Amino acid sequence: MATATMSVARHWIDGEWVDSGEHRNSVNPATGEVIGSFAMAGAQEAQTAIDVAHRAFRESGWRTDRLLRARVLNRMADRFEQRTDELVELLGRENGKTHDQGRLEVAFAPETLRFNAALALTDLGTNSQVTDGEFSLVVRQPMGVAGIIAPWNSPVALGIRSLGPALAAGCTAVMNLPYQTAQINSLIAEIVGGTEELPPGVVNTITGGHVSGDVLVRSPDVPTISFTGSTATGKQISATAAANLKRLGLELGGKTPLILFEDADLDHALPIVVNALIVFAGQFCMTGSRLLVHERIADHVRTELAARLEVVKVGPAADPASEMGPIIDKANVERIDKLVRDAIDQGAKVIVRGGPISEGPLAAGAFYRPTLLEVEDSSMPIVQEEVFGPVLTMQTFATEAEAIALANDSQYGLSASVFSRDVDVPMRVAFALESGSVWVNDWAKLHDQFEEGGFKASGVGRMRGLMAIEDFVEAKHIRLQPGVTPVG
Ligand code: NAD
Repeated sequence: MATATMSVARHWIDGEWVDSGEHRNSVNPATGEVIGSFAMAGAQEAQTAIDVAHRAFRESGWRTDRLLRARVLNRMADRFEQRTDELVELLGRENGKTHDQGRLEVAFAPETLRFNAALALTDLGTNSQVTDGEFSLVVRQPMGVAGIIAPWNSPVALGIRSLGPALAAGCTAVMNLPYQTAQINSLIAEIVGGTEELPPGVVNTITGGHVSGDVLVRSPDVPTISFTGSTATGKQISATAAANLKRLGLELGGKTPLILFEDADLDHALPIVVNALIVFAGQFCMTGSRLLVHERIADHVRTELAARLEVVKVGPAADPASEMGPIIDKANVERIDKLVRDAIDQGAKVIVRGGPISEGPLAAGAFYRPTLLEVEDSSMPIVQEEVFGPVLTMQTFATEAEAIALANDSQYGLSASVFSRDVDVPMRVAFALESGSVWVNDWAKLHDQFEEGGFKASGVGRMRGLMAIEDFVEAKHIRLQPGVTPVG
C-alpha cells in the first residue's frame, strides 16, 4: 500500500496541480513494490484540460508570438537537462529502464525542444507577384489545441517529440500521458509547467488511459491528434477522428528486420543485434525483432548470438550491472511468453528459450530473459505480430532479392537495419525496403533534424524533422491587391 508520506501524482491544468476522485498505485516493475499513488483522469479531467487549452489558444497571445515560443522552448530544454538525473532515476524505478537506457531516453528531450525552438523562428512561407500589382502569399497558422497521446514505453522522449512541434507551431496542448508512468508524468509536468514565461493553460498534462484519450479524439475543440502507440489503437483513433475530419499524426507499431549479408562485419554487427533486442527490454517500437541471415553465415551467427544472449545480465535499474531491465508488468510477461509458447507449438525451433524469471531474487519482478527462435514460415504470428518484448526470430535467405522480400513481408514498415561491407548493396537494399528509417551497419540512430515515421501500418505522417510541424499548422492563401502599380 502507498503510505501517507507518499505524494499523490496529479494532473497539471491551467498552471495548477489538479486532483481526481480516483487514485491508483504506481508500482516498480522490478520488485512489484508500490512507489506512490496517482490521480487517474477520466472524461471530466480531459474536458477541463481541453477547455483551458482552448481558452489559452484564443486569449494568451501564444499563437502569434513566435519569439516567445522560441524562448520558452529553449528554456524548457535547459530545464530538462538540469533535471536529467531525477528523470533517469524515476525512469528506472517506475518504468524499469537501466540508467544508461534512461539517459538515452531523457537526452532526446532537450535536443527536440531546441530543434523546435529554431523551427518556431524559421517559418518563411511562400509569396509571389502573381501578375502586375497583385500578390499571393501563403501563411501557416497554428490549428488550435493539439491532443497529444503518448505510450508508457518512453513517455519523456515521445511526449516531448509531439509537444515540441505543437508548441513551435503556436498550438496549445493537452497531453494524455499513460497511467503506467504517472510519477514520471508528474515530473514532466513540473519541468514543463515551471518554464519561465510559459502562459498558464498552454500546456496541460493529464495522467489517463483510453477514456481520457478518447475525449481528446472526439472533441470538436481539438483539431489535431498526435498519437504514439499501437497500430490497433491508431486504427481505432482514425475511425473515431473521422467524424470530425481531424488531422492525425500516428506513430505506431513496428517489426524491425535486421539483415545480415554474407560480408557483414559480425564482430561489429552482433553486439548491435543484441542491443537492438534488449534496449528497453524489447519494449521499443524499433526493437530489432526479425533477424534475416545469409545462409552461408547462419551457423556461425546462430552459435555466436546464442552465446551472447545467454549471458545478458537481466536485473533492476537499481543494480548498475544490469544490462536489461524488467517488462512493464507481469501481465505483459505472460502475454509475451504465450506468444513464444504458441510459436514453439507451431514449429519454431528454440535456439535460446529465455522466458520469465520465476525463481530467485528477481522472481517478484516482471523479468523476461532474451529469447531466440528460428523459423522457416514467415506467416507465423511470431514473425508477423509485434511482440513488444525481448524475442527475436531468425530466418535465412540465399539472395539479395529474397532478403528484401522477407523484410517487406510485414504489415509494418517502421525501421530496418542492413549489415554489409559492400559499397553498393546497402543503398540498393535501403531503397527497396518499405520502411521509414533504414540504418546501414547500425540501429535506432535518430536525429531531430531528420524525419521519423512509418510506412504501411506503422504510421501516418512524420515526427521529427521539418515535416513534424505539418501536423499542427493550416496553410492559408491570401490574395492581395494593394494598389501597387509597376513603375512605368
Ligand atoms: P496503446 O496503443 O495500447 O496505448 C497508447 C496510449 O493510447 C495509452 O496510454 C492510452 O492513453 C491511449 N489510448 C488507448 N486507447 C485509446 C483510444 N481508443 N482512444 C484514445 N486514446 C487511447 O500502446 P501502448 O501499449 O501504450 O504502447 C506500445 C505500443 O506503442 C507498441 O505498439 C509500440 O510499437 C508503439 N510505439 C510506437 C512508437 C513509434 O514511434 N512508432 C514509439 C513507441 C511505441
